[in-house]
Amino acid sequence: MNANYLQTPIAYLKGVGPNRADSLKTELGIHTYQDLIQLFPNRYIDKTQYYKINQLQRNSADVQIIGKIIHIKTVEQQKGKRLVATFMDDTGKMELVWFRGQKWIRENLQLNTPYVVFGKTNFYNQNFSMPHPEMELLSEHEQGLKVMMQPVYPSTEKLSNKGISNRVISKLIQQLFSDLKGIFSEALSPAIIDDLKLISKSEAMFAIHFPQSQLVLAKAQFRLKFEELFYVQLQLIAKNMLHKQRIKGFNFDKVGTLFNEFYTQHLPFELTNAQKRVLKEIRADLGSNAQMNRLLQGDVGSGKTIVALMSMLLAIDNGFQACLMAPTEILAQQHFVGIEALVGSLGIHIALLTGSVKKSARKLIHEQLENGELHILIGTHALLEDKVQYKNLGLAIVDEQHRFGVAQRSKLWHKNDIPPHVLVMTATPIPRTLAMSLYGDLDISVIDELPPGRKPIKTVHRYDANRLKVFQFIREEIKKGRQIYVVYPLIQESEVLDYKDLMDGYESIARDFPMPEYQISIVHGQMKPVDKEFEMQRFVKGETQIMVATTVIEVGVNVPNASVMIIESAERFGLSQLHQLRGRVGRGADQSFCILMTSHKLSTEAKTRLNTMVRTNDGFDIAEVDLKLRGPGDLMGTQQSGMLNLKIADIVKDNDILKTARFYALQVLKDDPSLRKEENSAIRTTYAQLVKHKNIWKYIS
Ligand code: ADP
Ligand code: MG
Repeated sequence: MNANYLQTPIAYLKGVGPNRADSLKTELGIHTYQDLIQLFPNRYIDKTQYYKINQLQRNSADVQIIGKIIHIKTVEQQKGKRLVATFMDDTGKMELVWFRGQKWIRENLQLNTPYVVFGKTNFYNQNFSMPHPEMELLSEHEQGLKVMMQPVYPSTEKLSNKGISNRVISKLIQQLFSDLKGIFSEALSPAIIDDLKLISKSEAMFAIHFPQSQLVLAKAQFRLKFEELFYVQLQLIAKNMLHKQRIKGFNFDKVGTLFNEFYTQHLPFELTNAQKRVLKEIRADLGSNAQMNRLLQGDVGSGKTIVALMSMLLAIDNGFQACLMAPTEILAQQHFVGIEALVGSLGIHIALLTGSVKKSARKLIHEQLENGELHILIGTHALLEDKVQYKNLGLAIVDEQHRFGVAQRSKLWHKNDIPPHVLVMTATPIPRTLAMSLYGDLDISVIDELPPGRKPIKTVHRYDANRLKVFQFIREEIKKGRQIYVVYPLIQESEVLDYKDLMDGYESIARDFPMPEYQISIVHGQMKPVDKEFEMQRFVKGETQIMVATTVIEVGVNVPNASVMIIESAERFGLSQLHQLRGRVGRGADQSFCILMTSHKLSTEAKTRLNTMVRTNDGFDIAEVDLKLRGPGDLMGTQQSGMLNLKIADIVKDNDILKTARFYALQVLKDDPSLRKEENSAIRTTYAQLVKHKNIWKYIS
């Protein structure tokens, strides 16, 4: 009865009705009783504690203090007057202040009589003060019924305008509790509850809405956060296991001659330990009879391509074809040229398929794919066209996966009856905690080590006022034969202004770096593609020494001789973008530099971003900071994920609980994959409810 009852539309709850139901739906997404009961308070007003004046903290929350008024006076100020009372306990003095209703207060307040005051405090001129306190005589306070911790629920201005105040919400929730007699079905197994010493579901629900002390509140929060994260993990892990059971994959059972010959004779460098480890992980997947579905993360320059190539050799050794899809023509082209150079002598047939391949050539590629003459196909979205049919595609690799939608990726899958193994590669580091929740259904490999001999890029922060010194530095680098990027931000809302910045910047650089000694390229989004390409090529060929650009150069440009990246108005870029831009340099043998230019006015957050960039080159480290600054919603690729729509847990702050939840979810499923055991019946029921009402699968790639 409990579960069905909770699915009742909110309009039917006593005290709601159609109008309020509408507001609750649009403002807070509350459609059912269940949604309301899971509207958890943001914070609590603590009336269980009495503070002493000398215990007050600056910016402290609402506090409750016992003391006496010893003096009261009216103070004239610029506009009107204020009433100020001196309030004192046995540890010190503070002020109570009123701007409104002064007459009534003055007439009714009793001097030298114990009061309990309650409210927020301010700290000014070495003094604490409390404006418009709630006040009660101590004698009355002691007799009255004490509200302990008052919950404060999430709300919006519209809701309060419609009279749905915090008190109303609180009442509605009380109503639900009394209808349910405070009983909620247990959602976790006795073993887990025992192991973690959790309080019961009913106790937790009561305590989260009506806490009697900080201690029970903490227990309730832990229990409910754990439960929420446990079910997220359970869903992801179950999906992954189901996938491995159900989705048969090609079995690449041998490491053949191509792989071995390449490894022993053609590999141009020693693999890093991280590359070796990842190859082993992939190799194990490919020989496991189940379809591989793996995410490979590695910072820019960590050497993902060679891992992709060697995985493709494994496929070919086992009689299969492989494909590699990249998000842009430039990248696809680069992969094609690089891979041809590495394995061309092994007698492998490789073709490049992009939008600009001519019709006749395209037809030939289609034929050779179908009859099996082609071993490796590299390309862009063009790979997804229906005309592209393989003889036996065994491995599909997607580079820079965040630039492709889920739908596009799954298209690759359906090219065969048995889906090919899939490896998606990304240089956008996703913090492990987030990856666990976002891609918990994928297996994850990480290349966390750069090839040896790379000189870390030196990053500095300079103010605009020091521009002349920066220009002098550029001159010296150009003298050494290096090339320079100067990047301007381009942000939609202020596009006109941004272009003005870009053009002004270009002109000032052109003045300081005059022709013919210096040549400058300029590239931005409003140029025709041919002009853009022409300017890019001039820089690639080394005909120009400076490239002035907007962020269009973020992807795909590879000019090893470029060793200085100057980012203008760096405070306006997000961390991940700064990191991507910096990745354009540091690709050659020379020491590279990144110079972050800003004005003097910087927000605290901007300072944190700049300091982080100066401090580290590690993409994962940067991603962690980014996650803390912005929350998970803004991180690349996370928008699509409904998984992050958490009601009580916080994926960043509750990281430890997340790990615990994952551990237990894994244990439960390992021991009882289909949740049939009696001891897991509560989990089975809850899980079934979740799947039924949330339509969770659609969120998961
Ligand atoms: P990304 O991970 O960004 O795709 P790439 O695969 O393009 O990186 O590799 C970047 C550069 O590093 C390439 O020039 C590649 O040849 C080189 N490289 C890759 N692995 C190693 C290694 N183990 N030792 C030395 N150089 C390597
Ligand atoms: Mg790459």
